[in-house]
Amino acid sequence: MNSLLHVYNSLSGKKEVFKSILPEKVGMYVCGPTVYSNVHLGNCRTFISFDLIYRYLTHLGYKVRYVRNITDVGHLENDSDEGEDRISKRARLESIEPMEIVQRYTLDFRKIMHLFNTLPPSIEPTASGHILEQIEIIKELIKNNYAYEINGSVYFDVKRFNKDLTYGKLSGRNIEELVHNSRLLDGQSDKKNPQDFALWKKAEPIHIMRWPSPWSDGFPGWHLECTAMSRKYLGTKFDIHGGGMDLKFPHHECEIAQAEGINKESPVNYWLHANMLTLNGKKMAKSTGNNILPEEIFNGKNTFFKKEFSPMVIKFFMLQAHYRSVVDLSEEALEASEKGYIRLLSAIEAIEKLSPSASTTDFDVISWREKCYSSMNDDFNSPLLIGHLFDAVKFINSVVNKQKSITSSDLVILKKSLHDFIYNVLGFRLSKPSKNDPKFEKNKELLNLLLEIRNKARAKKDFEISDFIRESLSKLNVELNDTENGTNYEIK
Ligand SMILES: [Zn+2]
Repeated sequence: MNSLLHVYNSLSGKKEVFKSILPEKVGMYVCGPTVYSNVHLGNCRTFISFDLIYRYLTHLGYKVRYVRNITDVGHLENDSDEGEDRISKRARLESIEPMEIVQRYTLDFRKIMHLFNTLPPSIEPTASGHILEQIEIIKELIKNNYAYEINGSVYFDVKRFNKDLTYGKLSGRNIEELVHNSRLLDGQSDKKNPQDFALWKKAEPIHIMRWPSPWSDGFPGWHLECTAMSRKYLGTKFDIHGGGMDLKFPHHECEIAQAEGINKESPVNYWLHANMLTLNGKKMAKSTGNNILPEEIFNGKNTFFKKEFSPMVIKFFMLQAHYRSVVDLSEEALEASEKGYIRLLSAIEAIEKLSPSASTTDFDVISWREKCYSSMNDDFNSPLLIGHLFDAVKFINSVVNKQKSITSSDLVILKKSLHDFIYNVLGFRLSKPSKNDPKFEKNKELLNLLLEIRNKARAKKDFEISDFIRESLSKLNVELNDTENGTNYEIK
């Protein structure tokens, strides 16, 4: 491999050479889901992006400690410090215990992530399991004069912090601008200044989730949990912090301020942000109805698409775009991805049956492999990598057609590299219908029925019908072979 791994650091706005703090080890923290409803597809894209990053770093030989939290308390209805806790509200509306909400949607999240074949993180801590650590950080921030208590709640003093250190460096917002753009306090808030954010909130009587603290019975502010958990499991300085682009401000900006308020130094070397997913050209939002759940795509029960698409096809579609670009979900795009994905898998099957030639390879396997690595080393450029994989697919197909040849040693390298990139790095799972699946049995019966109809047509010399069946099946990637012993089929 020639090139060094470069990553785009949101903090510097540049691609930088990646150098881990400890040799061969990487600490990576990614903001996980708030488990108050089914995981939405945009979030899935973020976690698939960081799964790619996790897998590639691991493939390069790093021992990665990947921490992704579960937010089960403290995330209020809007991202400022107002409104009800999202989980508490859901629990109140359904008259159940908040932890039942947490359990239900944590399981849903894990199930969907499993269907997308993402690897579980090394540690998956919860906010409610780290209340003591959060209280300790608040105490330190109060001691350092970056936080103040009013009526049982504690707030981070952004103006005071900005006198010593800089607030706003990740999002590029300067404090004057923030002060100018902040809404006036509505009288309900105890904050000194509107840009201050909550570290601890005193619980109203209606609030179910509450813990004792030196200031009141209450609950921690949303931004605090990530500082507490990243510090606990990765230390005061670690390599990578990731999350969705929408978390850059205020969430990540506040995380930086909290960590610097204790340690006076930046907690993270590389900030990575994954971009969003739109649906038919528009932002996905529950409120507008322009929204689809992963499961609704997998089972085809939705109003957006005429057919169902498998998790691997959705994942292939997502990875065909760079993680920092916006990607738009549409029927045409998914159809195209499905065809591409099937072509890729067919080539993987075909390579198993290739017979090598004695002397020549009409493909520079070594430089092809280097191009694959260079793509991934260029800020995890999966679309470029997939493009190179298709160069190999084209070559494999021409070997199958006996137009080109490959030596046995090159065949070994090609097979191994394809396996590495498709399964280990991109994280695809060969998804063929399972023989125990009732749908598979039904499809087999239907196919046999079509073959029977075609045989009857052929016996009557009705070639118009028999060819129509053959061509239609071929479009569905089912190829028919007429042999002396009858017709058999192959699903490509
Ligand atoms: Zn976070």
